Parts: sequence; structure tokens; C-alpha cells
Amino acid sequence: MDNCLFCRISNGEIPTKFEYEDDEIAAFADINPKAPVHILIVPKKHIPSIAEVTDEDTELLGKMIMVAKKLAEVKGIANTGYRLVFNTRKHAGQIVDHIHLHLLGGKVLGSMA
Ligand code: AMP
Ligand code: ZN
Repeated sequence: MDNCLFCRISNGEIPTKFEYEDDEIAAFADINPKAPVHILIVPKKHIPSIAEVTDEDTELLGKMIMVAKKLAEVKGIANTGYRLVFNTRKHAGQIVDHIHLHLLGGKVLGSMA
């Protein structure tokens, strides 16, 4: 989608340092990090949120989690632990309507709200 920020970042239209990239997925640092490690794992396919995924996206979602797991290892937070979050629609505070998996770690994150 032309006017979608994460489409434009993941397809290279907005130059961004990727922590990971393949044909289907890009990962890059969150611009406003909430933890020492805060990376967004983003599919290149435009999907507004988890609420819109279909059965055909099952493999893609699994790949996103595998990318997060591997990035956690690369960033040295696999042993201490980390959080993976999909904010979904208004009550979760989703502000970018293109699906993204937050990888957060490098400090004690506290309990969920
Ligand atoms: P969410 O509330 O799950 O929609 O989170 C969207 C996230 O995208 C926030 O943590 C923002 O800091 C982050 N963000 C917004 N714009 C950018 C950008 N240009 N590059 C990297 N991260 C961004
Ligand atoms: Zn998009």
C-alpha cells in the first residue's frame, strides 16, 4: 500500500537499516525503543493487524516468530528472556496499521497491564 509506513520501510522505499531481511520479512529497530532491545519484525505483505490474518498467513506468522527468536539470540537476550507482542487494534494501542511483531528485551520488563 502506497501510503503505509511499514510497507514503505519494508520494501526499501524509506531507507532503513535492517536487522534482518528476506523475501517476505524485514526487521528494524523501533524508532522509540521501550527497552534496550526493541526490534519490529514486519512482513512485506500488507496486513492491517492480527484481526485480518487468514489461514494462508499461518506460515508467514510462524516465520515472523522464528525471525524474532533468532534476533533474540543475535542480540544476546535469549537466555535472560524477552517479550513478543502483537498490538491489535484500538484497545491494544496499535498505531501503525500494518502487522508488526515487537521483540523487547535487555531489561526486566515488568508485568503486563
Ligand atoms: P504499535 O503501537 O504496536 O502500532 O507500535 C508501533 C511502533 O512503531 C511504535 O513502537 C513506534 O515507536 C514504531 N514506529 C513508528 N514509526 C516508526 C519508524 N519510522 N521506524 C521505526 N519504528 C517506528
Ligand atoms: Zn502496509
